[in-house]
Amino acid sequence: MEKIVNNEISILIIYTGGTIGMVNDPKTGSWKPFDFDHIKKQMPELNEFGFKLTTLTFEDVVDSSNITPDFWIHLAELIEENYNDYDGFVVLHGTDTMAYTASALSYLFENLSKPIVITGSQLPIGTLRTDGKENFISAIEIAAAKKNKQPLVPEVSIFFENKLHRGNRTTKHNADYFDAFRSHNYPDLARAGINITYNYSAIHYPVIKRDLKVYHQLDRDVAILKIFPGITPAVVEAITNIEGLRGLVLETYGSGNAPTEEWFNEKITRAVDKGIIILNVSQCKAGSVEMGVYETSLGLMKAGVISGKDITTEAAVTKLMFLLGQNYTRQEIKEYLSKSMRGEINV
Ligand code: ASP
Repeated sequence: MEKIVNNEISILIIYTGGTIGMVNDPKTGSWKPFDFDHIKKQMPELNEFGFKLTTLTFEDVVDSSNITPDFWIHLAELIEENYNDYDGFVVLHGTDTMAYTASALSYLFENLSKPIVITGSQLPIGTLRTDGKENFISAIEIAAAKKNKQPLVPEVSIFFENKLHRGNRTTKHNADYFDAFRSHNYPDLARAGINITYNYSAIHYPVIKRDLKVYHQLDRDVAILKIFPGITPAVVEAITNIEGLRGLVLETYGSGNAPTEEWFNEKITRAVDKGIIILNVSQCKAGSVEMGVYETSLGLMKAGVISGKDITTEAAVTKLMFLLGQNYTRQEIKEYLSKSMRGEINV
């Protein structure tokens, strides 16, 4: 760990990898993660902040396509160990799985009362037109922002381009442009222009101060099944027969609709009956699952599939990992799936 400036507000920056810190490998011509010193060299601005910045680098910095649930637990533990010593946290992360990491972290922290702002960039920080500097600087400002000594955004959030989103509401929607993230079903938490304007009514503020609780288990026995016209019994069979499978995100059409063919309902019913918890999530980016509106979702409802409401796939699969990782009963898991635990769904 290395101190950059010493002052009143203290922010811990955790560098995990991602495009923001990548350099071009002359051998392959591809971008690969590099060390934090490289970022620091490109950003003398870091010395101009009026608060204490401390940096911590992951042992193995990664392209976020290599992120795993163990990584999320390690990241949560790093924040937990340093929680009392800092006012806020900034996580530098690749964009590809950033929405998954933000969702997973949101579940792992209960009663969070400090900001965890995740950011990265579409162009490496060493490139002329990089979006990394602005993203990084704004993320630090947001993590440090306070009013009456209280943090302005005590949530797990993602800052990108000029918007701050609730982390478990985001999805990476663009691979090319700087506004890479969208939160289709929840308003932005803040916008950065000349000033950073906070959308106070959308930000979660704890009413009663409770002690932080950090969870350390996630269960990987989950899968995602995206239906499509022409899906065959063999595909559904293969997924629902995975040994040890405990949770399944079923990506359906529109408001939660699926084929009414007998074989489909029969396989889904069998999967539920043998104990797999199935969460119905829409393939649409915006809007909500509402089973029963169309005849084409009645079968799923009867089979005991749970409505994911307006949850994103990223928040759904990580919620299943989280719930299955704790010692909850099947009934409790079903109840938690229908509730908002960290603001991930509208109920
Ligand atoms: N592949 C990179 C990553 O997710 C992409 C990025 O950071 O934008 O690490």
